[in-house]
Amino acid sequence: MSQSSRLDIVIAGGGTAGWVAAATFARFLGNRASITLVESDEIGTVGVGEATIPQIHNLIVGLGLDQADFLRRTNATFKLGIEFFDWSGDGASYIHSFGTTGRGVGLIPFRQLWLRGRGLGVAKDFGTYSYNVVAARLGRMATNSRTNTIPDLAYAYHFDASLFAAMLRDYAEEGGVKRVEGLIVDVERDGESGDLTALLLNGERRVPGTFFIDCTGFRSLLLGKAFEVPYLDWSKWLPCNSALAVPCESSDAFRPYTQAMARRAGWQWRIPLQHRTGNGHVYCNDFISDDEAAAALLETLDGAPLADPRPIRFTSGRRADFWSHNCLALGLAAGFMEPLESTSIHLVQSALARLLNVLPGDLALTGSARETFNRLSAIEWARIRDFITLHYFANRREGEFWDYCRSMELPPTLAEKIALFREAGNFMREEDELFLDDSWGQVMIGQGIMPQSWSPLADNVPAEDLGPFLETLARSYRLKAETLPMHRQFVAGVVGEPARVSQ
Ligand SMILES: Cc1cc2nc3c(=O)[nH]c(=O)nc-3n(C[C@H](O)[C@H](O)[C@H](O)COP(=O)(O)OP(=O)(O)OC[C@H]3O[C@@H](n4cnc5c(N)ncnc54)[C@H](O)[C@@H]3O)c2cc1C
Repeated sequence: MSQSSRLDIVIAGGGTAGWVAAATFARFLGNRASITLVESDEIGTVGVGEATIPQIHNLIVGLGLDQADFLRRTNATFKLGIEFFDWSGDGASYIHSFGTTGRGVGLIPFRQLWLRGRGLGVAKDFGTYSYNVVAARLGRMATNSRTNTIPDLAYAYHFDASLFAAMLRDYAEEGGVKRVEGLIVDVERDGESGDLTALLLNGERRVPGTFFIDCTGFRSLLLGKAFEVPYLDWSKWLPCNSALAVPCESSDAFRPYTQAMARRAGWQWRIPLQHRTGNGHVYCNDFISDDEAAAALLETLDGAPLADPRPIRFTSGRRADFWSHNCLALGLAAGFMEPLESTSIHLVQSALARLLNVLPGDLALTGSARETFNRLSAIEWARIRDFITLHYFANRREGEFWDYCRSMELPPTLAEKIALFREAGNFMREEDELFLDDSWGQVMIGQGIMPQSWSPLADNVPAEDLGPFLETLARSYRLKAETLPMHRQFVAGVVGEPARVSQ
């Protein structure tokens, strides 16, 4: 093979994962690969997945999409973080926001200054020192490119996942991706290597390829079914196994953040889009029946439902390998961690970025690229699993489900992280993990894991300076946030028309 050799990429499945992959390959490998995507109208997509994290910008910018066009076509809104309501069982809430909280001094992280300030009785609630949290609580939003006030808010989007997939489909097809409508009924494999050679479709059609991307959702037709790569079940740490999703009419509250409200045996999401609100109840059906879960969801919608609740069953976990032979799985075919921190679409993106970064110039798909890919992906998944598990473990709610979560045996990596934080509020970032100290700190503090002391580093700041320092920070965030437009007004300005209130 040489630098001029080509790949014949076949993507099985056209949900969000399939079309993100198709668009990414068209953009970055279009001159070195033929790309075919097979999907079946007979089998729908999961179609939820409406909340993202700021890494979504890498995809949007990487593909060269225009933000206003993207917002218009996907009915998107802005997301500054997630409000966790009642995870402590006392009706309180905290926001896990994007971006940084406060400002460190030299080597001293802000969190340590706050802990010392708290010890001295001069610190307010941790969220007071996050610009994102302050803006979110006020319902305000702006991006740097659209305002003169230089807001510097870290943000992601809420969007309609089906419209996003449709947008990417147009992009991919314009970039030369061939779409084949058909039901995959079998695969063809090389007798010697075991590699896939073709997908076999209904109507006795055959789609040959040299590299296959399994985006067939929970079915995992290639990696799971054809290659029988085992599934690692993580439900002992992430016990929710069911979801009900239902859209409702928009309410007047047009929050620039996702809400995650703790419920009897799980939690409920609320995601504002321009034209409707997305809702879902994620729960463990060992502790609540499907009917009870549906009733609890419908009772707490803040607008009239626009459809019947749609049930989805899942098991949190992942395939033991993400890439086997000449087949790599993305999206739900690779695994699923429940949606509490909106990480699934990100995992598709990061897997694609990792793949593009391990490909050799001659496109020979060697064992070493595969091994590195699998090893790094496994680490990324485990760290995210730990972060989501923390929310469940650190609850202070009553009830059988929540008692179980508090008493579960933690993955050692998470137990170590909590122990280090409990001692003196410290974190060490490991191996490029997705969630940084600011995220871990907000969730630990938000859910009541308080350190016994603070780092000696924080003692370098004179005690009498801490109160004024914290007060100045809080005031500056408040003043800045108060100048921003309301979220609805800002979205309307970007899309160039009044945001629609309901369908
Ligand atoms: C309850 C819930 C909430 C979620 N919330 C979020 C969120 O807030 N944020 C986030 O990032 N992610 C979220 N996700 C995850 C997100 O929905 C998925 O990661 C994303 O939609 C990708 O799905 P997919 O493309 O892998 O699979 P699917 O959407 O299931 O698509 C599978 C595709 O494979 C095709 N297919 C299957 N079998 C065949 C066959 N035999 N022949 C031909 N084609 C076939 C189907 O036609 C379809 O096109 C959520 C998931 C769930 C379950």
